[in-house]
Amino acid sequence: MSSIPYKIYLEENEIPKTWYNIRANMPQQHAPMLNPGTMKPATKEEISAIFCEELARQELDETTENIPIPEPIRDFYKMYRPSPLVRAYCLEQELKTPAKIFYKFEGSNTSGSHKLNSAAAQVYYAKEQGVKGLATETGAGQWGTALSMACAFYQMPLYVFMVKNSAEQKPYRKAVMETFGANVTKSPSDTTEIGRKILLENPGTGGSLGCAISEAIEFAVTHEGYKYTLGSVLDQVLLHQSVIGLEVKKAMEKYSLYPDIIIGCAGGGSNLGGLVSPFVRDKIKKEKNPYIIAVEPASCPTMTRGRYAYDFCDTGRITPLAKMYTLGSGFMPAPNHAGGLRYHGMSPILSKLYHDGFIDEARSAVQTDVFEAAVKFARCEGILPAPESAHAIRAAIDESEKCKQTGEEKIIVFGLSGTGYFDMAAYESYHSGKMTDYVPTDEELQKGFDSLPKVPGNA
Ligand SMILES: *Cc1c(COP(=O)(O)O)cnc(C)c1O
Repeated sequence: MSSIPYKIYLEENEIPKTWYNIRANMPQQHAPMLNPGTMKPATKEEISAIFCEELARQELDETTENIPIPEPIRDFYKMYRPSPLVRAYCLEQELKTPAKIFYKFEGSNTSGSHKLNSAAAQVYYAKEQGVKGLATETGAGQWGTALSMACAFYQMPLYVFMVKNSAEQKPYRKAVMETFGANVTKSPSDTTEIGRKILLENPGTGGSLGCAISEAIEFAVTHEGYKYTLGSVLDQVLLHQSVIGLEVKKAMEKYSLYPDIIIGCAGGGSNLGGLVSPFVRDKIKKEKNPYIIAVEPASCPTMTRGRYAYDFCDTGRITPLAKMYTLGSGFMPAPNHAGGLRYHGMSPILSKLYHDGFIDEARSAVQTDVFEAAVKFARCEGILPAPESAHAIRAAIDESEKCKQTGEEKIIVFGLSGTGYFDMAAYESYHSGKMTDYVPTDEELQKGFDSLPKVPGNA
């Protein structure tokens, strides 16, 4: 094992030529998205009104296992992929664990996270179709940044609705997006009808991802030639992110390795879904059985304490209904420093896999424990992790502590989804001892569940 290099790199020509569509192998499909007006499955026409054609097609594809990555997207990927799979030797030493810890590092591109993998694809298809411009939302700012970069590359106008709280916490994110040419508006704003309504009902609100989604969709459907894009949750996004797991698998095969435990943080589910889907395939086919763990913040406990039900994907309740683990579209998560994990729902694919037992475990972590892990990791490995990613680090450390107790040399792989250089206010709050842990009460969660739409089957 000691012959494993610190970083396992793949060659450029080993970047996957196809994305892996796990839906083709799932024993059961997740329930379809519903049009809330008719309660019938959303059609390709309805979905194409919001998203561009090819993405609508991918969204509904349940049968094509391997979907070719167009050559121009592979060329874009070559600017920053393959991403390294790193052996965390120093962290292992610090922990004195017999476990072998690896992380797949998606933060080495300028946008600082895995989100560029889907941004590149989404903007490419929009450009091909002759779309005039795009609208999107961003919470913590990583998706907006990634999409701005891709839009600059393809010369596509972009309007970003950024959650007000995080725009104020991280003013430089906005400056980065503007540098790449994006127009950034704080959400809720008075530029959309839904934004004005939310402001009227919740004066002084710092906004939420759900609100920003509503505004971005309204902007896209009311501007001729514009389409909407989303950075997580959707099946198409998990598809694009499968490039992460495919590379991990290929890199490990070079050294005849296979993970015993795979860990990822879960906000909307895209980095975790992309990392694990090629391995979940092996579980479905009963070829291998790695133990898969999803980690989420205790302040926004979608999988660990949410309901598996049909719900809106946004606060303004204008999206189709998706069957997923959810805290209710009316749930307003407490301010937590892992902005990218503050979403009320979860990818329908991941939700179904978890419901059917192919994701073995979901666990939550409070933010002081998460930052303790982040700091330990930073000091050993020299990378300042995103607070979101640090949820996965927390679980990887905890699992390797268990190996120390039992003496097992398990192979642990976790997704290091991004870097946290725009999250220094959060690190500062941790260092000064001011960071608090907020865990919602059952009563508070009930308020969110009360906002679930009345759909047959929703208890
Ligand atoms: C957005 C983001 C996440 C959460 O989103 P998922 O869709 O759950 O992956 C996690 N880590 C980073 C660095 C992010 O930017």
